Amino acid sequence: MPPSSPSVPARAHRRRARPVGRGAPGPAGAHDRRVTAYSLLSHLECSREGTPHDADVVQGTSPVGAPLLARYDLDRVAAAVTPADIAGRPPTLWRYHEVLPVRDPARVVSLGEGMTPMVDLPRHGARLGVPALRMKDEGLVPTGSFKARGAAVGVSRAVELGVAGIAMPTNGNAGAAWAAYAARAGIGALVAMPVDAPQITRRGCAVTGAELYLVDGLIGDAGALVKAAVGERPGWQDTSTLREPYRIEGKKTMGYEIVEQLGWRAPDVILYPTGGGVGIIGIHKALREMRELGWLRGELPRLVAVQATGCAPIVDAFAAGLAESTPPADPRTVAFGITVPKALGDFLVLDAVRATGGTAIAVTDEELLAAQSALARDEGAWVCPEGAACFAAVGRLRESGWLAGDEEVVVLNTGAGLLYPDTVPVDAPVLPRP
Ligand SMILES: *Cc1c(COP(=O)(O)O)cnc(C)c1O
Repeated sequence: MPPSSPSVPARAHRRRARPVGRGAPGPAGAHDRRVTAYSLLSHLECSREGTPHDADVVQGTSPVGAPLLARYDLDRVAAAVTPADIAGRPPTLWRYHEVLPVRDPARVVSLGEGMTPMVDLPRHGARLGVPALRMKDEGLVPTGSFKARGAAVGVSRAVELGVAGIAMPTNGNAGAAWAAYAARAGIGALVAMPVDAPQITRRGCAVTGAELYLVDGLIGDAGALVKAAVGERPGWQDTSTLREPYRIEGKKTMGYEIVEQLGWRAPDVILYPTGGGVGIIGIHKALREMRELGWLRGELPRLVAVQATGCAPIVDAFAAGLAESTPPADPRTVAFGITVPKALGDFLVLDAVRATGGTAIAVTDEELLAAQSALARDEGAWVCPEGAACFAAVGRLRESGWLAGDEEVVVLNTGAGLLYPDTVPVDAPVLPRP
């Protein structure tokens, strides 16, 4: 861990616009001068227009329908905590609590999520021509996918703000995760998912007692159902992807962890399987926060959005030089978690990729399944198809020369291969009893 942690730099060089004209600060709001506050959340900001909004009431999107991003008093964070302090905290994502939105530690709803392993992959790296290849393995998070990060923080903050129940459309993993944390918090949960979503995720919702609907359609159709249901339930919140501000805060902790686990240093490249894009937007946000805090120096890593050719709206928009994506006609891939035809935050994903000198690349289902198998044979790691797509992308980017052989590369494996048992065919003889 980081004995060489950078100390907090002088504040003078940091440039940051201060919020102006926002509503009354919340109970532990902006006028609280203690530097020891659990959270140093200051306000929410419209991701399109930069307008400030009150963080201490339940919020959806901004008035122009854009995601709201949580902003913190980073000067106070830098004065309150150092990387060395963080090193001594328990190994969950809550170790970054100053830059998370939950104000009262008693409101934290946790199942122990975060600080997942960063695994060296020497044999597979050598095969791909990238010896310094690592995987951050989110398959070890409660519920088996990184969705638990967004759920832990989103549910905790919802409870703190008095929400009685959460409702959401999902491709599966997010629903199972939010259902689990809602149960842990003792609030209601309504989940709607495509009937084709991985079976295990509906069981995750059922076992925790969530109200579950299977929709004969795509995630957008499930979203319409949720919207109608929430309209009839006072005190419930629509927690659709990027329609509430705090899921991204949970997911951004992947960025903090990568940098902390590398000794407060960034790799050259991070690859992320991109659906709604919350993870890659969150990692980009975390990197920028850490740079502003003085916890990370130098260039940001190049961020790579990986999709499947069966549903690659971000890749298409990137290639065409567009700021937003157009939904594909017939989205389809075994990597179900990234089957998102139109992400509300598409423009933020494209910005994250372009601003860091990254790229966006699609791989076929055939390629990603081959990568899943090759990685498991080389390293014993059974990754989800979404994570496998990133390993296939590493191979392609190395072949094209976009990745150099001496670069340090981190792949996010966003979930456990165990969630998708049907992606692995088994051809074993059944023997008669001897
Ligand atoms: C949801 C999901 C993704 C995509 O995540 P976003 O942050 O929405 O882009 C990737 N992999 C898995 C396993 C998922 O469940």
